[in-house]
Amino acid sequence: MRARLIALSIVAALGGTLAVAGVVGFATTSHEARKSSLGVARPAADLLAVLDQPGPVELETVVSADWAVERGGLINLDHPTAKAAGLKNEDEPIQVFFHAIRHPEKGLFIVDTGVEKALRDAPEQSAMSGLVRSAMQMEKLKVLAPLGEWLAKQPRPLAGVFLTHLHLDHITGMADVPGGTPVYTGPGEASARMLLNAAGQGSADRALKGKPALSEWTYSHEAAGLFEGAVDIFGDGSVWALWVPGHTPGSTAYLVRSTKGPVLLLGDASHTRWGWEHDVEPGTFTADGPRSVESFKKLRAFAAAHPNVDVRVGHQH
Ligand SMILES: [Zn+2]
Repeated sequence: MRARLIALSIVAALGGTLAVAGVVGFATTSHEARKSSLGVARPAADLLAVLDQPGPVELETVVSADWAVERGGLINLDHPTAKAAGLKNEDEPIQVFFHAIRHPEKGLFIVDTGVEKALRDAPEQSAMSGLVRSAMQMEKLKVLAPLGEWLAKQPRPLAGVFLTHLHLDHITGMADVPGGTPVYTGPGEASARMLLNAAGQGSADRALKGKPALSEWTYSHEAAGLFEGAVDIFGDGSVWALWVPGHTPGSTAYLVRSTKGPVLLLGDASHTRWGWEHDVEPGTFTADGPRSVESFKKLRAFAAAHPNVDVRVGHQH
C-alpha cells in the first residue's frame, strides 16, 4: 500500500538511474500467474440468496503485528469530511492481520499473511529487503504473532492462501507459508505496473519463492452487479471472493459465511475504521482513486443493506 512512498524513497536513495524505472514502473512480482482452477464465477445475487443462512466456516482473525503509517495514505485527507474533522497527515496506528478460515471439508486457508517470523527474529534474513524495510518504516512494526509460529500450532496443514491484493504489507508473512501451498489473488495483481521499484519486486519474489504460480480468480464482469464480479470459492456458497478494484486492479474482498454469521473482509478497500464509518475512501496508497471510490461505495451499500454482516476493515479493528 506504500507503493508511491517506496518508489520515492528508493529513487531518493539510489539516485537518477531508478527515476526512469519509477516512471515506467515494475511489475509487482515476476512470479508467474495463471487462472485459478478453484472457484466458480457466479452473480453476486446468488450470494444474497444464502447470505443469512448459517455458514459452515470457522473464522479467526489474528493480529500479527502492530504498526503505524502516515494517515494520508490510508484516508483521503482532501475529502470534505476529513477536512472538517481536522485530520492531519500524522502517524496512524494500524495492525497487520491474517484471517484463518477453517472449512469442515476443504481444510485450513488464510486470507492475507500477517508477518513472517524473521521480521521479529532476524530482519536481515526476511524476504523484505533492507531498502523495503526502511522505506516502509518497518522499525515501527511490533510483531505479536508471526504466521510461522501460528501455523506450527495448527493440527491441519495449510491448504491455501487467499490474498486481498499483492501489496507488500499483505505478503509480509508469505515467507512462512510452506512451499507448494497455492496462493490466490484477483486478476492482474502480479503484472500490475505500479510505481513500485526493483527492490519491492525482489522482496515480493522472495516472499513467493517455492510457491506455485499465483492463481487468479476468474471473475465474470457484472456491469450493474453488487460488485464488479464474484467467485464462489468452494462451490458451496460458504466463502466468496468479491472483485472490488481500485486500490489495486485485482483488489478482492472476501465474504465468509461463518458459524457466527456472515463476515466481510474488506482488505484495503478501506484500511481504517474511521474512513469506513465516515464514508471517506482510502488516500494516496491507492492506485486508482475514482475506481476505488466506486468499489468503496458498493461495499458500503452492501453493508448498509445487510446490517447483520460483521465488517472487518483492512488494518484496524
Ligand atoms: Zn494495500
